[in-house]
Amino acid sequence: MNLDLRPMLRGETNRMVIDFLLEPEPLEGIVFTDEARVTGEITNRGGYMRLLAVADIPYSGECARCLSEISDVYSLPFERTVVTEGTLTEEQEEDNVDEFVIVKGGFLDIDDAVRESLILSFPMRLLCSEDCPGLCPKCGKPKREGACGCPEKEIDPRWAVLASLKFDEDEDSEKS
Ligand SMILES: [Zn+2]
Ligand SMILES: [Zn+2]
Repeated sequence: MNLDLRPMLRGETNRMVIDFLLEPEPLEGIVFTDEARVTGEITNRGGYMRLLAVADIPYSGECARCLSEISDVYSLPFERTVVTEGTLTEEQEEDNVDEFVIVKGGFLDIDDAVRESLILSFPMRLLCSEDCPGLCPKCGKPKREGACGCPEKEIDPRWAVLASLKFDEDEDSEKS
């Protein structure tokens, strides 16, 4: 979305409302069920322009522990200082991509900046709840649903990892 900032640059207004839809970049394991809605405002205080917005993205995915389906809306706060082209040196621009957005020819396009910010902020592991107890490692039943009757005592999973590492090494040496 190209936001027309010319009225603000001409000093005709000190506040501009933002409200537009944005197609999010795909993320592995996540389904964005709809477009992101970006709402907020740009204000100008004596030449210091500031953008404050929130991008709301409906998504669905899987809980990393119990594999149950999660459908929710992720809210990404997006704040930047707005500067006109040529205000910053190329180096300053590159070093501060998460601090500034740049107006070009009177227009501001924040789509890519919001998409990038979303990729960086979206949780790597989704959980249905902070304290999700996950699945029983033996029978695969969600622990939340109550005791499954499997014995509590488990082999230390670190041994399993070590065993598989050893196995991989053996395989490699056979090939070479
Ligand atoms: Zn869960
Ligand atoms: Zn079980």
